[in-house]
Amino acid sequence: MCLICRKDKLNKDFICLCCEKNIKSKEGSSYIKIEEEVLKYYSTSYYSHEIRDLLMRFKYKKDFNVGRFFAYSILEVIDKQHIEFDYICYVPASKSGIKARGYDQSKILASIIREYNNKTILHCINRNNNTREQKTLSSEERWENLKEAFYFDNRFKDKIKDKKVILIDDVVTTGATVYYCYKQLKNNGAKEINILTVAKSKL
Ligand SMILES: [Zn+2]
Repeated sequence: MCLICRKDKLNKDFICLCCEKNIKSKEGSSYIKIEEEVLKYYSTSYYSHEIRDLLMRFKYKKDFNVGRFFAYSILEVIDKQHIEFDYICYVPASKSGIKARGYDQSKILASIIREYNNKTILHCINRNNNTREQKTLSSEERWENLKEAFYFDNRFKDKIKDKKVILIDDVVTTGATVYYCYKQLKNNGAKEINILTVAKSKL
């Protein structure tokens, strides 16, 4: 059954050819510019009505079939871009978010991705509890809000040193979230970090 129209006429995994036309796939990489730095990341698609609805179902309604579709889309990017990695990292949800919804959506994406390779998930990025919900904030406020939001678990320092990792997240809006997580991985010795996200959105 198609995840979007729920019609029973799939000739492809997850999404029928008709609905697939409404998903704006994203080819190649995108960039976040932060002062002197330019950070590259990949998204599987642009943020559209269809993607928004799917993200809502995955994030708030425990629809893990949607999660599987997203994870497959990320795996396709990994394949197409010939991305090599030793470990899988992800942007952790806030503790209050996990408490309210019961799970961490990016961690679930990471575990599905892990099923298809022999890599390990490193739960090395932690999130402070005092960050506000990003949704209602302006771009500047989002960057400020997340500045001190993430920290690295020092127990993983030896493991990550000189390794290639992928960093998984659901949506990139300003890029602040992935940027600060990227920084944690970089500052703690990761050699190469590829950022992989489901959707690219605008504020
Ligand atoms: Zn459909």
